[in-house]
Amino acid sequence: MPLHVRGVGLPEQQPVELWIVDGRISREPVSGANTVFDGGWILPGLVDAHCHVGLGEHGGSIEIDEAIVQAETERGAGALLLRDCGSPTDTRSLDDRDDLPRIIRAGRHLARTKRYSPGLAIDIEDESRLPDLVAKQARRGDGWVKLVGDWIDREIGDLGPLWSDEVLKTAIEVAHHHGARVTAHVFGEDAMAGLINAGIDCIEHGTGVTDDIIELMVEHGTALVPTLVNIENFPGIADAATRYPKYAAHMRDLYAKCYPRMAAARDAGIPVYAGTDAGSMVAHGRIADEIEALKGIGMSPDEALGAACWDARRWLGRPGLDHGASADLLCYADDPRQGPAVLNRPDRVILRGQMF
Ligand SMILES: [Zn+2]
Repeated sequence: MPLHVRGVGLPEQQPVELWIVDGRISREPVSGANTVFDGGWILPGLVDAHCHVGLGEHGGSIEIDEAIVQAETERGAGALLLRDCGSPTDTRSLDDRDDLPRIIRAGRHLARTKRYSPGLAIDIEDESRLPDLVAKQARRGDGWVKLVGDWIDREIGDLGPLWSDEVLKTAIEVAHHHGARVTAHVFGEDAMAGLINAGIDCIEHGTGVTDDIIELMVEHGTALVPTLVNIENFPGIADAATRYPKYAAHMRDLYAKCYPRMAAARDAGIPVYAGTDAGSMVAHGRIADEIEALKGIGMSPDEALGAACWDARRWLGRPGLDHGASADLLCYADDPRQGPAVLNRPDRVILRGQMF
């Protein structure tokens, strides 16, 4: 039976009525529909723009059943579109499940040997192989490729870039040629310019956004997904790095400067999107906490919600509450812009027209 919902639509803040038939939104009335929500707020499904379905607590691959539980947790929190920023588990079979959030995949992380969490990335000994491996991941993914941009370099005892500027230029060009966008894990300052000048599309974490880097990102139109809930792990990472005092001090410094730097990036007009980095150090289902954290870098409640909803959808090329779009939407009796207490508990989760 067709469904019908009525309320105030976000972001327009205008009364809206939607009919849902065969998994799709209709803006035109459909007869015989069952009204399942009336009064309150209606918005497109939330987006977690950095979410690892298929990554285990200890950083490795997992059984598919565990990945399904992760995806269900995201659905419960209203995150119906996930940009998977690299997964060691092949989660492609989840695409056949109508009851699970949509996943936009980046394939496997690409890193230099011993320069990332063990077991997570495809390790590359010789960096000249990067463009070929980028091409392969671009063909396998859903329009994104994920690089590890920097990591601890044990020889210098501090964060350091993984790649030369030249190979990044070639690799990113190759990805774009294959129709894929590229993003990179970056904590420190030094790897940023090489990636941005090479035309990278997005930076993950990005705690190294100095004023100069911000200027460069504005010039190149680079997006930023700061994963603020994961940055809270920096002090713990520093505490554990007893053998590398310089690295530990650097991580503490990046942590201390995180909010002012991210606020400066947002003020400068860099597009900032919400991602939790759920998978290993961050639990799944925390998109509302990331939205709340984004208010701490100066975002208004509307802007912070948009960074995890309508703005992120536009950036990822996915529709909102449009006529004919897949019915992936949330209904709240209370205003979801109030914060996690409301946002975490959608009164109706509708995914592909199915109610949860
Ligand atoms: Zn991540």
